[in-house]
Amino acid sequence: MSELFPSHRIQILLPLPLSGVFDYLVSDDLDLMVGDFVKVPLSNREVQGVVWDVAPEDSDVPLEKLKYVIGKSELPPLPESLKIFIEWVAGYTLSPLGSVLKMALSVPARFDKPKTKTFYRISPTLPEKLSPARTRVAQAAQTDIPTDLPMSVKSWCEIANVGEGVVRGMIKAGQLIACQVSGEEAFLKPDIELQRATLSNDQKAAADHIILQQRSGTYKAILLEGVTGSGKTEVYFEAIAESLRSKTAQVLVLVPEISLTAQWLDRFKERFGTEPIIWHSEMTPAQRRRAWWATIRGEARVIVGARSALFLPLQDLKLIIVDEEHSTTFKQEDGVMYNGRDMAVVRAMQAHCPVVLASATPSLETLINAESGKYDWLYLGERHGPAELPEMSCINLKTHPLKPGTWISEPLYKALKNNYERGEQSLLYLNRRGYAPLTLCRSCGHRFECPHCSAWLVEHHKFNRLECHHCGFNQRKPESCPQCDAKDSLVAVGPGVERVAEEIKLLFPDARLAVMSSDEISSPTALKHMIERIENHEVDFIIGTQIVTKGYHFPMLTLVGVIDADLGMSGADPRAAERTWQQLEQVAGRAGRAEHAGRVIFQTYQPEHPVLQALVCGDKDQFLEKEAASREAQNLPPYGKLASIILSGPDKSKVLNASKALARLAPNRKEITVLGPVPAPLSYLRGNYRYRFLIKAKSKVNLQKEISVWLETLPSNRGVRIQIDIDPYSFY
Ligand code: ADP
Ligand code: ZN
Repeated sequence: MSELFPSHRIQILLPLPLSGVFDYLVSDDLDLMVGDFVKVPLSNREVQGVVWDVAPEDSDVPLEKLKYVIGKSELPPLPESLKIFIEWVAGYTLSPLGSVLKMALSVPARFDKPKTKTFYRISPTLPEKLSPARTRVAQAAQTDIPTDLPMSVKSWCEIANVGEGVVRGMIKAGQLIACQVSGEEAFLKPDIELQRATLSNDQKAAADHIILQQRSGTYKAILLEGVTGSGKTEVYFEAIAESLRSKTAQVLVLVPEISLTAQWLDRFKERFGTEPIIWHSEMTPAQRRRAWWATIRGEARVIVGARSALFLPLQDLKLIIVDEEHSTTFKQEDGVMYNGRDMAVVRAMQAHCPVVLASATPSLETLINAESGKYDWLYLGERHGPAELPEMSCINLKTHPLKPGTWISEPLYKALKNNYERGEQSLLYLNRRGYAPLTLCRSCGHRFECPHCSAWLVEHHKFNRLECHHCGFNQRKPESCPQCDAKDSLVAVGPGVERVAEEIKLLFPDARLAVMSSDEISSPTALKHMIERIENHEVDFIIGTQIVTKGYHFPMLTLVGVIDADLGMSGADPRAAERTWQQLEQVAGRAGRAEHAGRVIFQTYQPEHPVLQALVCGDKDQFLEKEAASREAQNLPPYGKLASIILSGPDKSKVLNASKALARLAPNRKEITVLGPVPAPLSYLRGNYRYRFLIKAKSKVNLQKEISVWLETLPSNRGVRIQIDIDPYSFY
């Protein structure tokens, strides 16, 4: 982007929910290029924007109406590949360009000149004899950080594992030298020469293939499929190391939930000597600024983040890895609704680099692309080392009925007891937070429902509260029924993880328990602590929600019991079966990952269901083929295109009228089927009534164009919000 500005008029994109760019004037003494960060007046404010076009052609705003650009930032310009990506995402998701830019600029004070800070670097001439603590600092300077990199006092303390007094003492003695640094403290460089795993032949072949693609410097999507515990991480670590051999290459690793990756981060640190740069939405402004600056200046080499990391200003992107690519958490469900996995492929294509999609349970979308040869396909069929894949079986709850108010059948209890007596760990999986999903009154039948959503309130025993899992509304669990006043008449219906934990406590009074759900794990530290307890074998039973499916490696865990394997099989989601299979396969994959053999037991009322058959008989290929065939027959993704439109608002009749109006204008073409409007399954959410359309189209149809033309014909409807979701993943 090195065009010099030839005219007075330029166009600026502002990070506001608007589709268009704005015209401004530039005074002659300000040299502006496409991508430059600028400050401009807007109404009575000053806002930050990005130069989008320096030589706009057809603009009808007269020159004398335009305002002048106020100034230019010190930042390097927005990289061209990111600009192209922003435009592409806006077009694909039918979102305002400015909203997408906003995701790329989600850093406070990005415009301001960074403050100068005092950091310290090690003196080139140190005395021969140093105290042991000071020697540690000197050694750290030699081994842990690139030559001469200035660091804050705090960082020196952390790296050398010494107290602040030691560092201050060295500063006083001239052994650490002060220097003024503008901007943020740099990150440590990963070290590729550290000890590494010896790869198996299969792992090596897979790593070599990715490395070959990296060297060719072109786009290629690669599916890295490998059974749970096969060492996919080790494989792509080698690919990361390859990128780090170049001086400037940057690697982006996308993970489903960064807060759950403590074990992964430890492994990275072991391999590369330092943690990667982390990016997610819950960082403090200071952390964000530091990571963002390091990225745009090209210092950040390996960034691991949530889907939003795709919008970081990477200067020399050379490799993208999407770990657990099947995960639906890559889909953003509000604002700009995009699928991080799919957009990662687009980003790689635009940056001309390979993208690796790793999973033990790849999505059907990705598998079909691999089958057709569009993606390369690497496969690891065995677990690393002596570990074997676990043995899986079903308990038919029709023949082994549950006692009222209990959720663990006799055969599962026996298996748990055996395992416990052998001193091994067991995991009970139930993807339901809280104590019970429904509370009702025994005398009048009253059910506790959220006042703002069409959803039941979930009991949380620990706090004695009833809570809505959609909007967060909660109330104390009352002593008597609010409807009929009956005392002690409220009963819990169905289980959540808390209730299963209660049952385990009754069955095994001396056992040590850990409940892994987002309610119990309030912070990354709390999670780390829990993982350590499990790793150190201070826990006998783990009771967990889908959090436990996230790639954990617990060597002593040998038995997995799935409380309700039927949960999630039904519903409006066309991917329900695929997703249930993925979740169950992933949770099963936690068993027997080290030398002790693993076993998995599914409690179910329908052991003949194809998902369970696929798991128990190990015949996932046949299952996936059938899934694919049924999607193809229904023209559903990945064979056909799908979009949803949700209209919502606080006034039910307004929403309904707008929906009917939209239905009357629907495109009338053979290649497009419009279903709806119907009340959404969650027909009332956070105080808004919701109606939805599903739009199915043949794959050759330009669905974005059809939808935008269609929506343009709709007269404006105040008080009705219209949300378009291309490739929807949620169907509530
Ligand atoms: P996956 O991501 O495929 O489930 P991981 O990469 O987590 O598998 O590997 C499972 C376990 O095996 C981890 O503890 C990992 O450190 C170990 N492992 C995998 N490959 C190797 C190897 N080549 N050498 C040593 N350990 C390995
Ligand atoms: Zn609610």
